[in-house]
Amino acid sequence: MIRFEKVVKKFGDNTVLDHLDFSVRRGDRVTLIGPSGSGKTTILRLLMTLETVTDGIIWVGDEPLSHVRRRGKWIPAPEKYLRRRRRTIGMVFQHFNLFPNMKVIDNITEAPVRVLGHSKQDARTRAVELLDMVGLADKAQQHPSKLSGGQQQRVAIARALAMEPEILLLDEVTSALDPETVSDVLDVLREIARTTDITMLIVTHEMRFARDVSNRVLMFDGGRIVEEGSPEKIFGAPDEERTRKFLHAVL
Ligand code: ATP
Repeated sequence: MIRFEKVVKKFGDNTVLDHLDFSVRRGDRVTLIGPSGSGKTTILRLLMTLETVTDGIIWVGDEPLSHVRRRGKWIPAPEKYLRRRRRTIGMVFQHFNLFPNMKVIDNITEAPVRVLGHSKQDARTRAVELLDMVGLADKAQQHPSKLSGGQQQRVAIARALAMEPEILLLDEVTSALDPETVSDVLDVLREIARTTDITMLIVTHEMRFARDVSNRVLMFDGGRIVEEGSPEKIFGAPDEERTRKFLHAVL
């Protein structure tokens, strides 16, 4: 479903991803762990086409994400193509990024109407279902500023799901929240993992959540994968000293 092939990402002289190879199967729940600066967020941003690769290629399904083939050569994809590819990928950020001037319900219906061409009525019906799923059916008419951080994050999750993504990218979605609202957000994500087959890539410092929800864990350091395996293996009995040291520091 997703394949990174010898992906290099540099910011100036700083090589953030160094010939990275990995793939994710449809329905996988993959958690990316590793020290600060190891390139985890950059991977998600590349998948959202918010960044472009310096070298190598990223595949989503049978097509490259950022390039198209013209006369036997790969060239950077035109913006129209990128928009189409991006539609299948939803992302939830650390800082919610809701539209502050729109009611909760309009935050959720905006993109399905504008981008997917759904009717307003269909989009509202689906938005109400999604708000119910995240436990916020009573907040549809509020503005985001009236909600707690955890509630805003649950709206952001509903908004991402309204686009019917095949892939959901979750970037530190609980790290800006008050501790007491974290568990509500994690419960919603657990439920999504349990009831859908959406492919999920998760960057989190919540190791218990990672253990509960993912079927694979990739440990990064210096833009490379140091070790990968099931959560039982990585959290229980990792092979690499680097992984043990990292987990010892964060757990
Ligand atoms: P954290 O756990 O702290 O979020 P991370 O593993 O997600 O870290 P990234 O955010 O991917 O790491 O950053 C990897 C490296 O890339 C860091 O050294 C960072 O400073 C650098 N970097 C990221 N984005 C940019 C940018 N837009 N311009 C320059 N350098 C950047």
